[in-house]
Amino acid sequence: MNAVLHLDNVIRTHGQGATEVHALRGVSLSVASGELVAVMGPSGSGKSTLLNLAGGLDRPTAGEVTVAGTALGSLDGTGLARVRRNAVGYVFQDYNLIPALTAAENVSLPRELDGQRARDARADAVAALERVGLADLADRYPDDMSGGQQQRVAIARAIVGERRLVLADEPTGALDTETGEGVLRLLREICDNGAAGVLVTHEARHAAWADRVVYLRDGVVVDGDSGSTPDSLLGAEVLG
Ligand code: ADP
Ligand code: MG
Repeated sequence: MNAVLHLDNVIRTHGQGATEVHALRGVSLSVASGELVAVMGPSGSGKSTLLNLAGGLDRPTAGEVTVAGTALGSLDGTGLARVRRNAVGYVFQDYNLIPALTAAENVSLPRELDGQRARDARADAVAALERVGLADLADRYPDDMSGGQQQRVAIARAIVGERRLVLADEPTGALDTETGEGVLRLLREICDNGAAGVLVTHEARHAAWADRVVYLRDGVVVDGDSGSTPDSLLGAEVLG
């Protein structure tokens, strides 16, 4: 199996008794190198939970998550943190850049935290910024950049050091249409170059950049197991 990401019957339950919430009720999903999978579904259907489990930010109640051949359930906190820094890149709706750091410093931070020397980390950061078309802005601070530029910095941070899995949770939510399309084009390109990608989105137009769409409802995959193409969902009533 060549999947970079594999979820095997993953269950995630929050709370207990009367306040119990079944965020995911048994989800299985594989994403291969080169593949971009869109995850759609109404608010509260479990999309962010799925992404957090895929990236090792959260642990399943039952089932197994495997990233780049490593079963995350077998790792302690330190091992999990290492996978998060080395193998997984995250892109959030609100960028999550550190305002006191320049673009290059934001991108090199995960490399330095991973023990890389500052100069090598900087070189990797500049290379990643080049890939997103922002090499010129390496020394600029987030507050002096547009939203689209900040999201590109966040994408550079997500791919620095050849991360194999890129997870994006509504990455265009705060951007205008044209800038958003640019971000999706970039994600598509990153996957075409060998990463595995998961894109959570509300918009069928954005899901059209993906190879496959998985549709969640109440913590269950209701469509996508059988291989929905983005085109078959365009025009369908899939928007929550
Ligand atoms: P989505 O991203 O599709 O909007 P989420 O994955 O954020 O959905 O949430 C799925 C369900 O799990 C929702 O009912 C939400 O309220 C619940 N949930 C998510 N995180 C927590 C938590 N930390 N504690 C309790 N309930 C949670
Ligand atoms: Mg969400």
